[in-house]
Amino acid sequence: MADPRGFLSVRNRELPGYRPVELRLLDYKDVIEKREPTSPYLKQQASRCMDCGIPFCNQGCPLGNLIPDWNDLVHRGQWFEAIERLHATNNFPEFTGRVCPAPCEDSCVLGISQPAVTIKNIEVSIIDEAFTRGFVQPIIPDRLSGHTVAVIGSGPAGLAAAQQLTRAGHTVVVFERDDAIGGLLRYGIPDFKLEKFHIERRLDQMRAEGTRFRTGVEVGVDLTWQELHETFDAVVVATGATRPRDLPIPGRELNGIHYAMDYLVPSNRVVAGLEGQTAQFDARGKHVIVIGGGDTGSDCIGTALRQQAASVTNLAIGKEPPKTRPENEPWPTTPRLFEVSSSHEEGGTREFLASTVEFVGNEEGHVTALRVATTEYLPDGRRVPTAGTERDLPADLVLIAMGFTGPETDTFVPQADLDLDGRGRLVRDDDYTSSRRGIFVAGDAGRGQSLIVWAIAEGRAAAASVDEYLQGKTELPRPVSASTTALLP
Ligand SMILES: Cc1cc2nc3c(=O)[nH]c(=O)nc-3n(C[C@H](O)[C@H](O)[C@H](O)COP(=O)(O)OP(=O)(O)OC[C@H]3O[C@@H](n4cnc5c(N)ncnc54)[C@H](O)[C@@H]3O)c2cc1C
Ligand code: SF4
Repeated sequence: MADPRGFLSVRNRELPGYRPVELRLLDYKDVIEKREPTSPYLKQQASRCMDCGIPFCNQGCPLGNLIPDWNDLVHRGQWFEAIERLHATNNFPEFTGRVCPAPCEDSCVLGISQPAVTIKNIEVSIIDEAFTRGFVQPIIPDRLSGHTVAVIGSGPAGLAAAQQLTRAGHTVVVFERDDAIGGLLRYGIPDFKLEKFHIERRLDQMRAEGTRFRTGVEVGVDLTWQELHETFDAVVVATGATRPRDLPIPGRELNGIHYAMDYLVPSNRVVAGLEGQTAQFDARGKHVIVIGGGDTGSDCIGTALRQQAASVTNLAIGKEPPKTRPENEPWPTTPRLFEVSSSHEEGGTREFLASTVEFVGNEEGHVTALRVATTEYLPDGRRVPTAGTERDLPADLVLIAMGFTGPETDTFVPQADLDLDGRGRLVRDDDYTSSRRGIFVAGDAGRGQSLIVWAIAEGRAAAASVDEYLQGKTELPRPVSASTTALLP
C-alpha cells in the first residue's frame, strides 16, 4: 500500500468522461473519451485502495482478481508487474475492463463509507498500457502434450478455455459457426461498447501461441459430432445460451417484430462493413419499441438511436428499481439498482410497470402499435395487466429483449447424446464434465445467459478439468466451480 492515507485525501471517484451525446451518436466508436492510463488522476484513484486485510473486492469477482495488488502497482507506476498480476487471474481484461458490470466495485470495502475504488477503470488502464508498451506477448508452451482438444464456440468461455489449454501444451482447435471469432463479443455487443480491434489484438496473441481457429463450421451440421469426437481426445462445449424468450401474445405474427439478436447481429455486421443496411433492420425514421431491459435492451436502444430512429421507447414490466442500495441488499452484495447506461443517456424514453398485451397491425400485416397496460402485482408476486388501463404506443419496429431461455440444442447435442437440465441447459458436474466423460461444458451453455466475467472464469476452470482428465493432474487454476452462483452472501 503505497499511500496509507490515500482514501482520506482523495475522496471522490474520478473516471474518464463519455464523449458528448451529439457527437457519439454520429458514429459507433467507443462512447468513452480516450483514456490516458499514465495521467496523474489514475495514480490518485489507485491510491484510494486501502489494501484491506480481507479484500472483499477479490471475493466479489468470479475470477478472483488480485485487485489490491494491482491498485498498488499502478500507484507506483509499475505497469509490467501490474499486467503480470492481472493476467494471472484474467485472460482478457480488455473485455471485462470495458463491459463488466464490476461486482468487485459493489463489494469494495471503501464503498461502505465512500464511493468505491474505480477498480474497473484501473483494470482497463493496465491492459491498455500493457498493449501500448508491448508487454502482451505470446506465451508459447515449452513442450506439447500430444493431446488434442476441440472447443466448440468462440465466446469468452471458449477463448479462455482454449488459451489455458494451449498454454498447457495441448493442441487446441476452436470451431465457430459464425464467420468471425468472438461469440457475443463480436456480433452481439455493439462497437460503441466494445470496438472489435480489441478482439483481433488478443486473437493475434492466441494464434501465435498455437491455438487454431476454424470459422464457418457449425458442429452438428458442417462437421458431425462423430467426426469431431473421433478426432479429438477431449471436447469443450462453449456454445452460449442464445435461445430467445418470446412474447406469445395476439399479433405476434405481424411483420416488424423481431428478437433483439435478429436486429443487433445484422446491425453490427453493417458496422463491420460486412453487409449493407436492409430496410427490415434499419430503424431510421421508425418508432422503435424495445421490450425488456438489461444489456441486450440497452444495446438495441443505442443502435436504434445511431440509426436515427424517430423515437425509441423502452418498456419494462416491473417496478422502477431503487437508485440507491436498498436495505435488503446490503454491502457487499450486488444490488439491483436503476441503471442509466450510456445508451439510456443518449435518448429515448423508459416506461416501467408496462405490460404488453397485444401487437396492433395494419391491413398489410405490419405492426403499427403496442397495446400496453399498467402492471399490477398480485399478492402471490405474479404480475398482471390492470384491466381498463390499456393504451396504444405507436410502433414500426418492435425488438423483444426479454432474455434467453438456454442454449440452442438442435444440432450436435442429440448426436452427442448430452443431457439437458429442467431449464434446457447442458448438464455438467461441479468440475464441468457433461453427462459424457471427456466432454466438458463451460460458460452460458451450462450456466444460462450470464456475464463475460463468469464465462472467462468458467473457461479457465473447465480447462483445469480437461487438463486433469488428459494428464491425470493439473496446475491450472479453478476460480469457480460449475455450481457456484453467488460468491458473497
Ligand atoms: C446483446 C448482449 C449484450 C451483452 N452485454 C454484456 C455486457 O455488457 N457485459 C457482460 O458481462 N455480459 C454481457 N452480455 C452477456 C455475455 O455476452 C455472455 O454472458 C457471454 O458472451 C457468454 O459467453 P460464452 O462464451 O458462454 O457464449 P457466447 O459468447 O454466446 O459464444 C458462444 C459461441 O458459440 C457458437 N456456437 C454455438 N453453437 C455452435 C455450433 N454448433 N458450432 C460452432 N459454434 C457454435 C456461437 O456462434 C457463439 O459464437 C451480453 C449479452 C448479449 C446478448
Ligand atoms: S475492497 Fe476496495 S479498498 Fe479494499 S482492497 Fe479491494 S479495492 Fe482496495
